Amino acid sequence: MVSRVIPVDPFDLVIFGGTGDLARRKILPGLFRRFRAGQMDAESRVIGAARSDLDVDGYRAMVREAIAEFDPASARDSEALEAFLGRLGYVVVDAMGETGWDDLEREVNSDRIRAFYFSVGPRLFGELAERLHKHGMADHDSRIVVEKPFGRDLESAKALNATLAQHFHEHQIYRIDHYLGKETVQNLMAVRFGNTLFEPLWNSQYVDHIQITVAESVGVGGRGEYYDRAGAVRDMMQNHLMQLLCLIAMEPPAKFEPDPVRDEKLKVIRALDPVEPGDVVRGQYEASSDAPGYNEQVENQGSTTESFVALKAHVSNWRWAGTPFYLRTGKRLKARASEIAVVFKDAPHSIFGAEAGRHANILTIRLQPNEGIELGVTIKEPGPGGMRLIDVPLDMTFAEALGPDDADFPDAYERLIMDVIRGNQTLFMRDDEVEEAWAWTDPMIAEWEARGEPPLPYASGSSGPDEALALIHRDGRHWREIKP
Ligand code: NAP
Repeated sequence: MVSRVIPVDPFDLVIFGGTGDLARRKILPGLFRRFRAGQMDAESRVIGAARSDLDVDGYRAMVREAIAEFDPASARDSEALEAFLGRLGYVVVDAMGETGWDDLEREVNSDRIRAFYFSVGPRLFGELAERLHKHGMADHDSRIVVEKPFGRDLESAKALNATLAQHFHEHQIYRIDHYLGKETVQNLMAVRFGNTLFEPLWNSQYVDHIQITVAESVGVGGRGEYYDRAGAVRDMMQNHLMQLLCLIAMEPPAKFEPDPVRDEKLKVIRALDPVEPGDVVRGQYEASSDAPGYNEQVENQGSTTESFVALKAHVSNWRWAGTPFYLRTGKRLKARASEIAVVFKDAPHSIFGAEAGRHANILTIRLQPNEGIELGVTIKEPGPGGMRLIDVPLDMTFAEALGPDDADFPDAYERLIMDVIRGNQTLFMRDDEVEEAWAWTDPMIAEWEARGEPPLPYASGSSGPDEALALIHRDGRHWREIKP
């Protein structure tokens, strides 16, 4: 099978924070891959913008190094790399002051699509929007890409939405959640809405429960300062896990288009019950023999910020009443593994007798590593000896099913950036979605802050605090193992 690459219209993409970690690790290597795939038009340009005093050659050297470090395989195509570097510009700009804005205005081309990626700290988002407007770059054909975190509560998210709305229309604002750019997440929609097989079973009559796990094996590392002010609920639950929950739980949109999809996701968030205090477990990782504990990695030694959270959520509508959603995310866990598991109910009656055991079908959507979808089905164990049942996976791992060419699909960031250029907001969050998501998490955070209870300690490399296991055990269920 051969991949189809549809080139996008000519664009100028300005990356504010073009010297930062995200730009070097994800955005620039991703753009280079799109360039190599032939998706970037010959006229298109990428312009780094930051305060660092670099000239264009210095910036190109920095990007060359970044691509060699973060995508060494692609970097070996030196001819393509040099051609890509030739498309790069750089402007010294201060988001908080007047330096460089006239230069930037001269640098970007007004007769093509102009996209401005805010890959800077969140306190600069509003400043950038204001200055782009002031310097005449917020015209109809321009769009802005806003990184996370989008606020730290409902009030701040509303304020940021209001500031952005003063300078840009909603159709120009792309709030990025890179989980939505993952191939498997889009495949989840293809599986649900492209097959007749699953949708009739996709409700509380047939689904026992749903688990969403986003586990990281690393700790807070160099992000301690930011993370300690956020914690697992603000950093991961309010955005990534919530978005995954929406895609699993939403009604079929009339079309795969921005507003129909976002309308359905919004309805899911609005149908979420407030989380009961007894249905949330917060944890903080301890030191291990070879790695420091959370408290040693942040400045505030007595920090009560959670590096792990598990909770039980209920979507109160006709489709899902009675089917719990168990969500958990955390750092320094057993493995880096993210998956959604749709656990179907047992067959109502076993004709094979008690000794055959109970077997439930599980549809697993793996986000990382090895993106893919797997359906566990029950079959007879081969051979003589009577009717013994076993579960085997029907595996739809893309690399195996599609072959290496098609499995080499774009990474989430590069796909989403191309969507920005195409003007397709389907996989980006709308203002009301972000606000409703905060409206759901704010009371939960306020409740534990009022109680002043510290998070529970858990061993590095574990599955989180024991109480998180108890959260699901008491319902007669168990978490799926966190494995790489
Ligand atoms: P970073 O490494 O600290 O980079 C920040 C960038 O902003 C640098 O290029 C810096 O360059 C520039 N900058 C700082 N102050 C500026 C100013 N006044 N005017 C113009 N440029 C300025 O941060 P990052 O990790 O790349 O993160 C960027 C954004 O992405 C943040 O909102 C973060 O939450 C989000 N994000 C990051 C990751 C990740 O993996 N890194 C993942 C998800 C989301 P100069 O110092 O040269 O000005």
